[in-house]
Amino acid sequence: MRIIDSHAHLNFTDFAKDYKQVIEKCRDEGISIVNVGTNYLTSEKAVKIAKTEKDVYAAIGLHALNISHSEVEKKVCEHSDGSVLEKPEDFLECEFDYELYKNLARSDKVVAIGEVGLDYYYKPKANIDPEAFKKKQLEIMKRQVKLARELDLPVIFHVRMAHADLIQFLEDERKSGKKIRGVIHCFTGTPEQAKTYLDFGLFIGLNGIIFKMDLDRVIAKLPSDRIVVETDCPYLAPLKSGGRNEPSNIKYVIERIAKIRNEEIAKIEKYSSENTKKLFSIV
Ligand SMILES: [Zn+2]
Repeated sequence: MRIIDSHAHLNFTDFAKDYKQVIEKCRDEGISIVNVGTNYLTSEKAVKIAKTEKDVYAAIGLHALNISHSEVEKKVCEHSDGSVLEKPEDFLECEFDYELYKNLARSDKVVAIGEVGLDYYYKPKANIDPEAFKKKQLEIMKRQVKLARELDLPVIFHVRMAHADLIQFLEDERKSGKKIRGVIHCFTGTPEQAKTYLDFGLFIGLNGIIFKMDLDRVIAKLPSDRIVVETDCPYLAPLKSGGRNEPSNIKYVIERIAKIRNEEIAKIEKYSSENTKKLFSIV
């Protein structure tokens, strides 16, 4: 493998019909893939794909936006227009079922817990108190970090408009002597926040959002032994490609990083793959 897309969602509906062909194309191009779950259904699918495809790995977890904040909200999601059955990634879970996910993690192709974290950008569909909404996200993230620690796996963090609270959580963990390995996926913070995450020993995931937001100052300063690259496909298609994003578009992300950092493309391919292997213990 030449390049690793450290965060993809070939387990989502957009790829239901042709994920095998997409993986085949990646194989020809020397791209390995980590498919990331966002709830039990998509985590299960990621594991299923990983079990049958060489150089394809899985992460399992419950995303902040897949948490149901009330039974009513969950029911609306299940029954409003039948879309849940078509789109497993829209399914919400009221609680994180520790044992169920733990059982799923038994496959040796599961390389991380994620994506999990805090997202204060989207509001819950149910009318609930904003503080209760934040508290629930934090509780569910904590349980998943506990599982990661029990299984000795790294964590893929999703964080949006919530850096202060995630940093506080990491600080509390550190104070109590607990270590966390992992990555801040789709990094969009400030150089200071990047530095804080680096101090915690975390990796920084860069994807097509760097075409939409000005992250040049952050990217230029990141140490090369902490950068991992990703597509987050089918989302965040780089401008050049448009439409559905795919792992093979990782080349545009790398090209852009090369330009900002004034480095050779081959060099970035090499160190980002090495970093991803280290992060996820891929041999
Ligand atoms: Zn994602």
